[in-house]
Amino acid sequence: MEIKHILQQNNFRFNKQFGQNFLTDDNLLSNIAIDAGVDGGTVLEIGAGAGTLTKALSKVADKVVSFEVDRNLEKILAVTLADCRNVKIVMGDVMKYKMADIEALCGGSYRLVANIPYYITTPLLMRFVEEGQNVTSITLTIQKEVAERLASKPATKDYGAITVSVQAVADVTITRILPRELFYPAPNVDSAVVRIDLKKDKFDIDDHNFFRKVVKISFAMRRKTLVNNLMVGFKLDRATAEEILAECNLQPNCRGEELAVEKFVQLYNVLKNKNIK
Ligand code: SAH
Repeated sequence: MEIKHILQQNNFRFNKQFGQNFLTDDNLLSNIAIDAGVDGGTVLEIGAGAGTLTKALSKVADKVVSFEVDRNLEKILAVTLADCRNVKIVMGDVMKYKMADIEALCGGSYRLVANIPYYITTPLLMRFVEEGQNVTSITLTIQKEVAERLASKPATKDYGAITVSVQAVADVTITRILPRELFYPAPNVDSAVVRIDLKKDKFDIDDHNFFRKVVKISFAMRRKTLVNNLMVGFKLDRATAEEILAECNLQPNCRGEELAVEKFVQLYNVLKNKNIK
């Protein structure tokens, strides 16, 4: 039976608050599972919805754990996933679960795959990037502009603190663009599928919290120079801030957005060695 039909039969009402925009095209759904690199193993899905992506994932994974916050979807999922024996649905708000408990449900290493609402994108992504112990990749269907920001290169308008924080520990690729009409109901924006492959040792960073602080401060005032941002953020005098830049072989008038990720790593190391906090 068609998903739209099942939703109607159960008098399902879309809840704006939960950012419900479902994908129904089987071909697209199985391509998202392929984009995510799922080939056996465990998948953690956030936001099962009507279970369309869950089902596509269950075909190529050994095991799928899927969270869904909307209790009204429970009986619909029982119908749409009746044949999927390797799926475990957890009814609840994933943000209210401790990372250790989420990861315990997955067992060992897992891939995170989700078509998530806009409001939750950054907190959810950063939570798994920062706290996830066993996550190997994160594939998200998100607003196109956010995907472009995550995958952007230095000296572009999209390049910012979140870009550097994520690219410091992961490789980021946009695998496909999804026009809004592909969703039911259609949202007001286009989406993209972004794949984030975690490589915690991509750079030699031993204090990730401090690294993210350096990045945040460097981008705090976008129109100001890096020297200015370092002066304000770390309470430094101009001479010290300029000396730090010189040690990194950076021009005194450069801006944070011009720095490649490896330059931020260098800046972080210089600050750390000077015991600047
Ligand atoms: N994966 C489905 C649904 C996408 S819509 C598909 O591709 O069609 C996003 C889903 O995430 C909705 O069903 C919404 O209820 C759910 N959701 C939103 N916030 C959530 C949260 N904090 N925890 C768990 N599920 C959430």
